[in-house]
Amino acid sequence: MKGLNNFSALSAGEITGAAESYGTPLYVYDERHIRQRCGECLAIPNAYGVTVRFAMKANSNRTILKTISDAGLHIDASSLNEAIRANLAGVPIENIMLTTQEVHTGSARVKLEQMLKAGMKYNVCSLLQLELICDFAALAGISPGIRIHPGIGSGESATRNTGDDYSCFGVHLSDVAEANELAAAGGIKFRHVHVHIGSGADSIKWQENIDLELDIIEKHFPDALSAGFGGGLKEARMPGEVAADVISLGSYAKERLESFYSRTGRKLHMEIEPGTYIVANSGYTVTRVIDKKRTSRSNFIIIDGGMETNSRPLLYGSRHPVYLVAEDGSQVRSSEFAPMSHTYEAVVAGKCCESGDCQTLDTEGHTTTRAMAEPEIGDLAVIGGTGAYCSSMSPYNYNSHTQIPEVLFTDAGELKLIRKRQTLEQMLENEV
Ligand SMILES: *Cc1c(COP(=O)(O)O)cnc(C)c1O
Repeated sequence: MKGLNNFSALSAGEITGAAESYGTPLYVYDERHIRQRCGECLAIPNAYGVTVRFAMKANSNRTILKTISDAGLHIDASSLNEAIRANLAGVPIENIMLTTQEVHTGSARVKLEQMLKAGMKYNVCSLLQLELICDFAALAGISPGIRIHPGIGSGESATRNTGDDYSCFGVHLSDVAEANELAAAGGIKFRHVHVHIGSGADSIKWQENIDLELDIIEKHFPDALSAGFGGGLKEARMPGEVAADVISLGSYAKERLESFYSRTGRKLHMEIEPGTYIVANSGYTVTRVIDKKRTSRSNFIIIDGGMETNSRPLLYGSRHPVYLVAEDGSQVRSSEFAPMSHTYEAVVAGKCCESGDCQTLDTEGHTTTRAMAEPEIGDLAVIGGTGAYCSSMSPYNYNSHTQIPEVLFTDAGELKLIRKRQTLEQMLENEV
């Protein structure tokens, strides 16, 4: 097998080329895959128009943001800094929506006001956030959206469910009346209603949420012109996992929006906010096998990039494929996508002083083994599905490791450095 898998043009040779040029560990992103996913989401069935926002917390590199923005997507930002970063990457400010837990005071509030006046969109996520914009929003003609906490949610793990009553994202349904009173007193109209129930949501729950949200809009938000159904489209990283069916989810939304129109005479524009789905499978962490060990229970291979480059297994028990590539780039020795080469089983551990620093953990945090070919020291171990919530979310300076580089494998088949490796000096520069 020359290619790593059947959804990427990256080959064993390109992987070793990247490792030789930039050192390990590093992230490689496949631009073609990102563009293909953007196109797929933009073509989602819809009734009265759709805006697709990339949830940039999944991957915030400026080149990735620019690529996605150029493909026609808008941005959902989770913090004011993310919004600023998107704008600096070249995303037009009116294409950025801020949906955040932050409460902006002092200079951050000044910055928020400035950006809202310049055209940035804002989903109010709490009563306090609403109060804080009342003094300028109406005067400046700003109509915020409102993120509703529906009381039901769904995610691949409890920590990724953002809609049930164990979490606190958005204005809870029981506070909607108060939000509407506050808004009315401040002369503000909610033009957009938003719900995001979680990451890796169950498709049935995602559909139920559409009904619930449209019901909320009908009852409480007479001025809303658009409905945001959130992100959470599931990705399949491992063989046997099933990704979201964008066409069928879109068809469901379309039908419900049409029936909303026939009930109310209101044509709602639709928004979706995929993060994971756009970038997860574009990304690979290229690491090197630096050691092999054994306990009475299992074999371990030690790789030079673990939890500090991908903390998802530790946080969520997430499973990522492991591709073993011969050091000279001549072949892919094994992967979950080519099981006939499996002659060995090992835990894939990182180099941090943390027993949870393993890429192969179960949801309880126990190490588990993976079937693979037996690697040689120096082989590359490529962790797949690391384009989302890896670079952007990892504790990269733990054990004083430096943040690793990011490389884009372009449409033209070239490897382009899009973020340099952090230096030890940079890690220390703010210490006084
Ligand atoms: C994180 C987030 C998303 C994206 O979730 P994915 O599971 O990565 O698709 C979308 N919308 C909001 C408001 C978010 O916080």
